[in-house]
Amino acid sequence: MAVNLDPDLLSILVCPKCRSEFRVDDEANELICTNAGCALAYPVRDDIPVLLIDEARDTRAESEPASN
Ligand SMILES: [Zn+2]
Repeated sequence: MAVNLDPDLLSILVCPKCRSEFRVDDEANELICTNAGCALAYPVRDDIPVLLIDEARDTRAESEPASN
């Protein structure tokens, strides 16, 4: 299910943690922070972005290699 957000709305949304812009991940139904040092993914529920840091997923952990 694709994310169906008003482009005007998306353009004014920023990450509540770092104030960076988002990119839309249609497959995951998430808004991804474009700041590589933050990279939180916020869920979109019923076409409403849930911009809560507590609800966000940290996408950095998935791409980092195990440290051992
Ligand atoms: Zn961010």
